[in-house]
Amino acid sequence: MIIILLGPPGSGKGTQALPVTEKLKLPHVSTGDIFRANLNQGTPLGLEVKKYMDAGALVPDDLVVRLVAGRLSEPDAKNGVLLDGFPRTAAQAEALSAFLAESSRQVARCLSLEVSDATILTRLSGRRICRNCGLGYHLSFSPPPADGRCGRCGGEIYQRDDDREETIKNRLDVYHRQTSPLIHWYGDHGLLKAVDGEGQVEEITRRIFAALED
Ligand code: AMP
Repeated sequence: MIIILLGPPGSGKGTQALPVTEKLKLPHVSTGDIFRANLNQGTPLGLEVKKYMDAGALVPDDLVVRLVAGRLSEPDAKNGVLLDGFPRTAAQAEALSAFLAESSRQVARCLSLEVSDATILTRLSGRRICRNCGLGYHLSFSPPPADGRCGRCGGEIYQRDDDREETIKNRLDVYHRQTSPLIHWYGDHGLLKAVDGEGQVEEITRRIFAALED
């Protein structure tokens, strides 16, 4: 079962991926997380993608597609995965379908999380993350402890470089131009379910489960 979580940056894909992967017992494959892990470890891949990520631009399709194809070929992906942040262009969506067809697999569903640009700006500019355990905070809605250390593990709390206002605007622009056409692409293939991504986290999770059961 290959499920895609589609949505603009800050639509809650990463947050919602957790309950969904737990319930469906699927590995969570986030291309953004893979790139960030490589960046933090200073790997050649990390060095290669840094300039794109810092600018809020997309990493070239061939590189992302190779990465995801490799991940989907691993044994734990045999029964499916939840894809978060991939595909992000029509070329990536086509490459994914072609790759899956080679092993008689296909996308089961594409969930499109719908959130307004205004909400995204508020969410992302206030977002803070624990460098150690990945726990998310928000300066207004869920403020981190005053000492700047994670309340769960004591790790350092930081702001993603690409969560700065100018970069957020660029990421949104990239989303509208290059990624949002995929909503129609998956709609035309009868695989799309739109989910209202505004409101409380638990409420959105319920909407996602309902969309998956449909
Ligand atoms: P995310 O955490 O999903 O917002 O991704 C962070 C950054 O990683 C993006 O702004 C891109 O620079 C890069 N990235 C992640 N996934 C992709 C993808 N499927 N195609 C191109 N670039 C990507």
